[in-house]
Amino acid sequence: MPREVDVAGLVKGVLAGSRAVLARAITLVESHRTDHREAAQQMLMELLPHAGGGRRVGISGVPGVGKSTFIEALGTRLTAAGHRVAVLAVDPSSTRTMGSILGDKTRMARLASDDGAFVRPSPSAGTLGGVARATRETIVLMEAAGYDVVLVETVGVGQSEVAVAAMVDTFLLLTIARTGDSLQGIKKGILELADVVAVNKADGPHEADARAAARELRGALRMLTPSTAAWTTPVLTCSAQTGAGMDEVWTAVLDHRAALEAAGELERRRADQQVEWMWRVVRDRLLDRLQSDPGVRAALPEVERAVRDGELTPTLAAQQLLDRLGG
Ligand code: GDP
Repeated sequence: MPREVDVAGLVKGVLAGSRAVLARAITLVESHRTDHREAAQQMLMELLPHAGGGRRVGISGVPGVGKSTFIEALGTRLTAAGHRVAVLAVDPSSTRTMGSILGDKTRMARLASDDGAFVRPSPSAGTLGGVARATRETIVLMEAAGYDVVLVETVGVGQSEVAVAAMVDTFLLLTIARTGDSLQGIKKGILELADVVAVNKADGPHEADARAAARELRGALRMLTPSTAAWTTPVLTCSAQTGAGMDEVWTAVLDHRAALEAAGELERRRADQQVEWMWRVVRDRLLDRLQSDPGVRAALPEVERAVRDGELTPTLAAQQLLDRLGG
């Protein structure tokens, strides 16, 4: 990255759909340097009016359910149908060198070399907040560059699903039939986020198990309150390997978005997400400032010790730390 960032050049290149410039623009939004952060925000302000045209779909599932096989199969179908497909990932536990969920060259090799697709690994390890921010901003870049389908992959562990659900229109949960209890391993909270559920690996000898698991999941979903009256989460079966049921899964994703749109909820959902994102950044920045404040840092060991030893209530201690900020 040159010292002086050529914001106008980046904006022009992204709008022209240049892959090389797009890659540089993404590197800029992922940068932690203060001058890069400022240039990135300038660039995003100029690109924002050109964004918003993508179908944003989150795809989640525990390792091994077949996410990369599924995304490769889906992405290839979509590019063959004339779509331009961007694939992003949110995996705060990974680093670029240590096998990020999309960093491994063998994953999605076919899609990665497809002219109609742009596959980008998760930003290198950092806080979930930082990774999520970079991913949201990358969605803006991708849409401005003309990608009309944005698939955001996340591993099915912890808080990253919540972060991804907060940046997409439709959240697709991939799962597989398990011997015994198929619900085992799917947290209720994750099921609540799902707009579409697909039981993958419904092929060969596993097909009957997959159908049974889907029935069971339908039952479990009936117990939950739907997030909107406009939509009931369907549970489908598919095979990313044979392609069976893939079209139906994609149709369900499109139907979900159409239902939101018809109910006037898509715009509201996206607007709410923007405001929620603003507060997320405010919280992250305030915490950053607090934790890097010299006065706070100096006082921290003693305050923590006093809380540990029961000499200070946590609430009073928090107040003392906050009082020091900027004081
Ligand atoms: P990820 O960790 O969720 O990305 O899962 P992968 O896509 O890497 O798949 C894990 C394993 O499951 C691989 O060996 C795949 O070949 C296999 N797999 C993925 N999808 C299917 C499917 O639809 N049917 C079958 N039988 N195997 C699959």
